This record gives sequence, structure tokens and C-alpha cells, in this order.
Amino acid sequence: MTDLSRDPADERFRNEVRAFLEDNLPPEMARRNRQGYHASRSDTREWTRILHARGWSAPNWPVEHGGTGWTLAQQAIFDEECTAAGAPLLDIFGLSMVGPLIYTYGTDDLKARILPPFLRGEISWAQGFSEPNAGSDLGSLQTRAVLDGDDYVINGRKIWTSGAHEATMIFFLVRTGEGTRNGLTMLIVDARQPGIAIRPIDDIRKEHSLNEVILDDVRTPVANRIGEEGKGWGYAKALLENERAFAAEIPRNRNHLALLRRIARGTMRAGRPLIEDPVFAARIAEAEVEFMALEFLALRAMSDTDGSGPSFGSFLKVRGSELVQRLTQLQVEALGDHGAYLYSEQAHMAGQPQPAPGPEFAPGVWSEAMYRRASSIYGGANEIQRTLIAKQYLDL
Ligand SMILES: Cc1cc2nc3c(=O)[nH]c(=O)nc-3n(C[C@H](O)[C@H](O)[C@H](O)COP(=O)(O)OP(=O)(O)OC[C@H]3O[C@@H](n4cnc5c(N)ncnc54)[C@H](O)[C@@H]3O)c2cc1C
Repeated sequence: MTDLSRDPADERFRNEVRAFLEDNLPPEMARRNRQGYHASRSDTREWTRILHARGWSAPNWPVEHGGTGWTLAQQAIFDEECTAAGAPLLDIFGLSMVGPLIYTYGTDDLKARILPPFLRGEISWAQGFSEPNAGSDLGSLQTRAVLDGDDYVINGRKIWTSGAHEATMIFFLVRTGEGTRNGLTMLIVDARQPGIAIRPIDDIRKEHSLNEVILDDVRTPVANRIGEEGKGWGYAKALLENERAFAAEIPRNRNHLALLRRIARGTMRAGRPLIEDPVFAARIAEAEVEFMALEFLALRAMSDTDGSGPSFGSFLKVRGSELVQRLTQLQVEALGDHGAYLYSEQAHMAGQPQPAPGPEFAPGVWSEAMYRRASSIYGGANEIQRTLIAKQYLDL
């Protein structure tokens, strides 16, 4: 069990992070990221470059692969301080999903070609797993890769590929044989090449974050395969377990809790700030207690580095996704009338000023609350996670 008692060295580390943020986080970037929208890819890339100059662009990776080698306590402190300062979230597809697979199972050549540019903020990732008939039942996917000389040639169709239109690389799970256990392979593909068509899908807000990706004789070198052919399902399961641990959405939930408090402090209701309303304050406190419990569970899961402990991925996914929905709903409620106005995320991303009928913290709130309705679907639908929990823990 992780020892989370306060260590003076950790407090010195906190001061170091704070000083770094004061000197290096561009104020305009911080202002944009306090507004609750998705961070733009350009902010994420720029922030990654700034962190890289200090050797901090992979807070959760071991030193030998270009990470910081920080303890879990240091990672949590870094995350808290970045949140408080308004830093954009980093590229989680790369940091928590495909990156660890590459440094664990990739060849030395793959590691050398992919990891350093990613750490310098030069690669943006998307995840190409789901297909029109393979979401919850991912193992039945049909996108096929066939060997042709030193290349794989890929044909098929992926769907719901978040951010593919802005990505430079996509990691795909494809079929190279029959069945699930030995028939799937994980390939890295340059997103900008002939044969890849990326079509936008409007989300619930009529914004563009999702895509359909059509692969028509797309070539990628065998050298871009992660691990062995036919072993993709095992790698995907490790990745999805990581994705679900990430789905506890600790940094995002921390951000949302901070924004909720800010809104409740800045909104007057019945002649006093909303945060002084005992009923609303109790609802915030309840959410905060849940957040703390979730954070400890996530730390416990992350501290199990050799995988000998129980798997908490499904618990973290269910609780984290429900909490992000609760917090964003509370924010909308706290905004009162201003919570009903849908500010455009596209305009925000393009740096265009938003007409502001509400207070400065209003843009982004309703947009984010709508988008996070999907948090109980992406990363593995919650109904499926509950079934996994029932099988794993209740022997049902
Ligand atoms: C906003 C968003 C972003 C996404 N981003 C990505 C991405 O970047 N990359 C990627 O690869 N995918 C992504 N996805 C896809 C996501 O992983 C799938 O939507 C998810 O796994 C569910 O699959 P499905 O949509 O095919 O639904 P289905 O599997 O068809 O499920 C539909 C409904 O039926 C229920 N259901 C299905 N099977 C069972 C069962 N056995 N028992 C009980 N209930 C069941 C599900 O819980 C769900 O409610 C994203 C999805 C969304 C909404």
C-alpha cells in the first residue's frame, strides 16, 4: 500500500514545480485552459515542448525511456500544481496508452524513432480501435492487414477515432489472422498519407472531435509493428486496463472540482455567494470526498507496478466517468441561467473571442458537460465494466 504521508522532500518538490509553472506557463494558455474546454492540440504540443526543455514531458515514464522517474506522490503533486495553474492536459493517448506499449514491447529501432519526437511534442496520437460493428465486442474487428514485402497493407474502417483529424500518428488494432487471442496485431501508422480518409462526425454539441477513418490499401512498414504479429489482443488488453485507470479522470476531475468551486464562489444566489449555501456546499463536499476516494484507488492501482494486485481498471472507469458527469452537471447548475448558453468550442480552439453573455468562467461549461455524457461509453461502456466487475469479484 502506498505511503502517502507528507514528506518534506515532496513539499520542496511542490515548490520547485510551482516556481517552474510561474516562470514557464504562458498566461494566455493558462487562461484558455481554465475555461473547461478540451485543450487544443496546439496548446498541448506547445506545453509538451516547454516541459521537454526541463525533462518533464513524460511525468509517468521511467527515466530510461525519457521520463521523469517520479514517485507516485511526485506525479500527483505535479498534476495538482499544473491543474491549479491552468496548464493544458498532456497527450494521454501517447503518455498512458501507446507510449508504455512501445517502450515495453517495441524494438529498439521503434523506440528510437517514435519516443524522442513524441517527448518533444512533435507527434500527436489517435487511437484506432473501434469499428462500426466492433465496439464493446472489440475482438470481432474486421480491419485487415496483409504482409507485402516489408510493409503491411491495411484495409478497413474505424469509427469514433477522437482527434484523428489533428493527429500525426494513429495506433491501430487490426486483424492479421483468425480469432481474437492470436489473430490481432497492433500497428503504428502515419496519419497523413494516401489511402487514409478522415471524415468528421459531429458530436452531441455539433463540434468536431470524432471521426470515421477509412483505410484503403494503406501501407505501414513492418518496423512499425508493436511487439509480435498476432499478439495484439494481449497488448490491447494492457492498454485498455491503462485507459480505464486513466478513465478515473483524476486530472480532469481535479480540474472540474476546482472550476466548480470557482463558479460557486463567483455566483450570487439569494444575496450570497452560492458556495455559502449549505445545501450546495454539501453537494460539493460530497463530490470532493468521492474524488479523494477515487484518487487513492487510482494511486493504489498505479503503485501495483508488477501487476500482482487486483485489477481496479473497471472500478476506476465506472466511478471516474460518473464523477466527471456529476461535477460538470453541478457546474451547469451553479451557473444558473448562464449554464444554458452553448459557447462554441471551435471558436475557442481558433482563439476567437466569445461573445460573453455570462461571467468569464461560463464559456466551456455546458459544452464540456454535454461532451462528458459520453464518458460512460468511451474507454469501454460502463455496462460492460459492471459485467467485468461482477465476473471478477462476485464470481457471477
Ligand atoms: C466520445 C467518444 C470518443 C471515443 N473515442 C474513441 C477513440 O478515440 N478510439 C476508439 O477506438 N474508440 C473510441 N470510442 C468508441 C468507444 O470505445 C465505443 O463507443 C465503446 O466501446 C462502445 O462501443 P459501441 O459504440 O460499438 O457500442 P456497442 O458495443 O454497440 O454498445 C451499445 C450499448 O449496448 C450495451 N452493450 C453492448 N454489449 C453488451 C453486453 N455484452 N452486456 C451489456 N450491455 C451491452 C453497451 O453498454 C452500450 O450501452 C469513442 C466513443 C465516444 C462516444
